[in-house]
Amino acid sequence: MKTDDVEYTSFSGWTDPPSDVRSALREDVTCEVAVVGGGLGGMSTALRLAERGRDVVLLEAEFCGYGSASRNAGQVAGAPGGDIQLLSMLYPRRFPGVVRFAENAAHFLERMIERLDIDCDYEATGNVCAAVSRGQMGRVRRVTKLLRKAGAKVEPGTSAELGIPRGFLGGMRESVGGTMNPGAFSLGVRRAVLASTARVFERTRVTDVTRNGDHVVIRSPGGEVRANKVVLATNAFGGDLAITPKRLSVPIWVSEVETEPIDPARLAALGWTSRSGVVTQHNIMENYRLTSRNTIVFGVRRLVRGKNHPLPPRKPDQAVVADLARAFETRFPALADVAAARAWGGWVAITPSWLPVAGTIGGDVFYSVACNGHGLAQAPYAGSLIADLIVDGEQHEDLKTLWAKKPTFPRPLMMGASGLRTIWTVDRFNDLINGSRRNARRGAAPGTDHHRRADGADR
Ligand SMILES: Cc1cc2nc3c(=O)[nH]c(=O)nc-3n(C[C@H](O)[C@H](O)[C@H](O)COP(=O)(O)OP(=O)(O)OC[C@H]3O[C@@H](n4cnc5c(N)ncnc54)[C@H](O)[C@@H]3O)c2cc1C
Repeated sequence: MKTDDVEYTSFSGWTDPPSDVRSALREDVTCEVAVVGGGLGGMSTALRLAERGRDVVLLEAEFCGYGSASRNAGQVAGAPGGDIQLLSMLYPRRFPGVVRFAENAAHFLERMIERLDIDCDYEATGNVCAAVSRGQMGRVRRVTKLLRKAGAKVEPGTSAELGIPRGFLGGMRESVGGTMNPGAFSLGVRRAVLASTARVFERTRVTDVTRNGDHVVIRSPGGEVRANKVVLATNAFGGDLAITPKRLSVPIWVSEVETEPIDPARLAALGWTSRSGVVTQHNIMENYRLTSRNTIVFGVRRLVRGKNHPLPPRKPDQAVVADLARAFETRFPALADVAAARAWGGWVAITPSWLPVAGTIGGDVFYSVACNGHGLAQAPYAGSLIADLIVDGEQHEDLKTLWAKKPTFPRPLMMGASGLRTIWTVDRFNDLINGSRRNARRGAAPGTDHHRRADGADR
């Protein structure tokens, strides 16, 4: 895969920034509820509160949809992310609730697209957790059992049965969810919030959130907001604000790449009949999906830990794009001559438990991090449940599942730069062994694997 002419963008490959960015806060205002952060979580909270008649102010540092909301891969998951075997073992009682939350979140998103009439190319194809080796196939079978036991709608199968390319052995389809253009979706949600009664201030970076008697004061360079309640929806940027609970999440940079447009006949020859998004079973996943513009978007595989707050804007590293391109050639040998056209990335928040989390600090400041790389549906769903809690004073069952009794969190494991590098190395070592095994079965030298598969020799 050629990577010489990749356009590296510091925003998103899905959409351009909006041309009607709202002006910053330039005076002191009061409101019932203030929401900090205009991602999908914050916009959904503000929209729901406005729809339910609350006086709400939304403050966003850049423009609504600036963060991972517009940058993600657009794969709407219908089941939880992370290491399912580990999560079901560590949290046996909570696990079925987390599965139900993930499924309800995907349905919530589908209703939101319909209700707000957002044109975002949503395809209800489900997504496949795919195996690239026999070892991963074993893992898929174990994960399928655990998820089914917890009530998830998942189906195992071979790549032919699941309608995914033959570069994958098979996998498990999450039948709820699908794929979309997340840039178009975020801008659609933004339009709905701007049209609501919520007062939206963009280009407004909140610098501090403090309590003052019976209200909360939110500071920004241009003015203060006095609110009865505050919702922190800052996702991976949470550490920028002192009030965010310590160790709530670790900021991790992940990258996506998009190919140039591919001849539809060549795409059809892949056997990707289901059009389901695909994520591999590596410790750090690879993701692949078709788009409505006849390209393939693929990414992750390497994680970069954010060290200092405030988190800087950045572009993907060339070395990471080259690594992703190598993976693309292995999974799609028949498309090895296709060029990578653009690359972008964003900050995701990984919680120490790898579970979505929500809670309150003192009863008037609320937070949620429903991410772990699965927040496209989960962040807006959690945000709207927090809005309902503020209005009704009662928690939905799904919010109870996420609720942290106290805002204290353990130190995250393996999330330092060397830990992440070790995980990547283990994945590559396993890939190498599996490549050698495949070649040995075919009597070929290691390293020639993808050329053989390009010829269809193993099909
Ligand atoms: C490359 C990539 C691929 C991904 N792929 C998928 C996927 O396929 N499926 C999936 O489910 N999830 C995926 N995710 C994760 C998903 O995008 C996130 O979980 C989800 O968008 C997070 O919620 P959010 O939209 O509210 O956060 P964000 O969009 O990050 O919103 C946070 C907002 O808060 C603002 N902010 C922060 N601090 C302040 C402050 N002090 N003052 C004012 N505003 C502030 C930021 O500017 C930002 O706009 C991916 C993420 C990335 C980056």
